[in-house]
Amino acid sequence: MKETSFFCIYIGIVYEKGDVFLRRKIGILGLLILLVCAVIGSQKAGEYLYKNYMGSDTKETAAEAKQGEKPVIVIDAGHGGSDPGKVGVNKALEKDVNLAIANKVKSLMEKQGVKVIMTREDENGIANSKAEDMKERVAIINREKPVLAVSIHQNSYGGESIHGAQVFYYTHSKGGEKAAGIMQEALLAADPDNTRQAKANDTYYMLKKTEVPVIIVECGFLSNYEEAEKLVNEEYQDALAEAVCAGILKCLE
Ligand SMILES: [Zn+2]
Repeated sequence: MKETSFFCIYIGIVYEKGDVFLRRKIGILGLLILLVCAVIGSQKAGEYLYKNYMGSDTKETAAEAKQGEKPVIVIDAGHGGSDPGKVGVNKALEKDVNLAIANKVKSLMEKQGVKVIMTREDENGIANSKAEDMKERVAIINREKPVLAVSIHQNSYGGESIHGAQVFYYTHSKGGEKAAGIMQEALLAADPDNTRQAKANDTYYMLKKTEVPVIIVECGFLSNYEEAEKLVNEEYQDALAEAVCAGILKCLE
């Protein structure tokens, strides 16, 4: 009311020398304008409070904000440089297979509007020693804080018979466990006969030292001749990359 009185007095002074009825009319008009403003203002304030502090509208607002921002993921092509990783029975080097698949995943994800950070994009490792290399990969992930980090590797085993892609997650990460389950299922698109299941692990350095959900995708066994041949085949690499991409997109939902 203080403001209203002040407004009327102000109008009154301006028209002090004018007609007394005109002054009153302007005073009433001023009061009406203030009342309308007050009603609209309180309506807007109510809407704001409801949207931000009540029920389901809050979730919609959060979802819209998430859609507005580009989600960030990290793709890590395992090994590189002087560290070849596993060596296939067909002489394929794990570091090369990892990089080929990782780069394919990157371009597919970018087409989907996802921001991709790569730990390496060429054949080189990212540090001079294995220990420094692992530290640097973890540092990139912790610095970029992606919604998910996917590390691409190939597996190996003593016997020829073992094959199939398998996803690993950190035992104590609920987010990692969920993402690993989704990814393991998504990988069936590339190899429908695969019966491997996502597996928890609490010893891998990358899983232990990272602060966001991380999954390690072992795309197949280089120790199995048939699978090693598939892993160096570009069409199979494309199928794997598409499956990984679909898995990531499902994780981002
Ligand atoms: Zn590896």
